[in-house]
Amino acid sequence: MDAILELKNVTKYYGSGSVVTKALDGISFSVRKGEFTAIMGASGSGKSTLLNVISTIDRVSAGEIRVEGRLLTAMKEKELSLFRRDRLGFIFQEYNLLDTLTIGENIVLPLNLKKLPYEKSVQELHSVAKTLDVTEQLDKFPHELSGGQRQRAACARAIITSPALVLADEPTGALDSKATDSLLGLFASINAEGQTILMVTHSTKAASHAKRVLFIKDGGIFS
Ligand code: ADP
Repeated sequence: MDAILELKNVTKYYGSGSVVTKALDGISFSVRKGEFTAIMGASGSGKSTLLNVISTIDRVSAGEIRVEGRLLTAMKEKELSLFRRDRLGFIFQEYNLLDTLTIGENIVLPLNLKKLPYEKSVQELHSVAKTLDVTEQLDKFPHELSGGQRQRAACARAIITSPALVLADEPTGALDSKATDSLLGLFASINAEGQTILMVTHSTKAASHAKRVLFIKDGGIFS
């Protein structure tokens, strides 16, 4: 079984008493190693909730989530935070780069947190910077870069640890059309090198670059 991600009957309720919202309604699907999957849905369909429970930022109300066979829904917080650090990569709509660090320092941060030896970190930094075409920007600060360059740097930071799964939340949401094409082209090439990607988006254009598209509506998945 080469499933990287498996969801079984994942359900999420918000609120209590008479004001309960069922944000996820018994979702089951798997993502295999090497897949580039997009999850598309309108506003309010449950996309953020789904990504938040997969990324372990939020807890499910019922159901199971496994990554590389490990049952995330049974892990304690300490184990989860190490798991997030070591096995997941994150890309957000608003980049989430740290303003006071250079682009190079931002990208290499996950390796520093893992206490990887300096030489090895520098080697990895130059390799991902080349892949994402941000080598020229490594000594600059985030505010000195365009949105597209910032998102490419954020992408480099997400993949520098070779995570099992990259989770991208509306990654092109703040980009113009040219930067969108460039980023999605890079997603395709990273994916061609074996990186598994799960992207949540309401953009048909972004989803069209994925190899597989799942649709979410009223908290349920249909393909
Ligand atoms: P999307 O990301 O597709 O816009 P969300 O996952 O944010 O959708 O929301 C799914 C449903 O859950 C919506 O009905 C939304 O109002 C509800 N919801 C999301 N977050 C919360 C919350 N923290 N408290 C209560 N309801 C929420």
